[in-house]
Amino acid sequence: MESLDELLGLAETSHGHLCAGQILGVRMALLGLGRLGIEAPRGADRKRLVTYVEIDRCATDAIGLVTGCRLGKRTLKFRDWGKMAATFVDLASGRGVRIVAREDSRELALQLYPHIESKGRQQMLAYRELADTQLFTEQWVRVDVDPAELPGYKAERILCSGCGEGVNFGRFLEVGGQRLCLSCARPELRYWVLEE
Ligand SMILES: [Zn+2]
Ligand SMILES: [Zn+2]
Repeated sequence: MESLDELLGLAETSHGHLCAGQILGVRMALLGLGRLGIEAPRGADRKRLVTYVEIDRCATDAIGLVTGCRLGKRTLKFRDWGKMAATFVDLASGRGVRIVAREDSRELALQLYPHIESKGRQQMLAYRELADTQLFTEQWVRVDVDPAELPGYKAERILCSGCGEGVNFGRFLEVGGQRLCLSCARPELRYWVLEE
């Protein structure tokens, strides 16, 4: 595994800037991988790991970078809970470690660097130095990842009777004998409105 500095360099390039969230995310991922004993998440161990993230902020990109887990590989799962937290799951054992950033780490950063005006700068310096126990709480959890949620799972794909678009397994509903995509079955859930 690369050093913290090397990973932060990669995170900066990939995310577009270096920020406190990147540092927190890189450290959170390193801690999680360390707890699971996964040393080469983007190499030999790449099929062992699934990561659940509970926030869509800067740290999320850093966690994806360090773990190699990606939405498009089905190894990064997003739960929009608004928490600076992630669970790293070892598929080989089903054990996971859920790591949460402590709310009081900002206060610690202020105490360490009161002479620095920018809160972002304070946090960027402090989050490199503070101990894992000062930055995070952690708990061991069990995660039963549904086989259908894992990479490589193959199952039926249907054409929606409403819109005619193709839909992957498990993402359609039977309504009045017709198989409809979620958008046609539950229009109120649509995130878009057709323009006139
Ligand atoms: Zn950022
Ligand atoms: Zn449809």
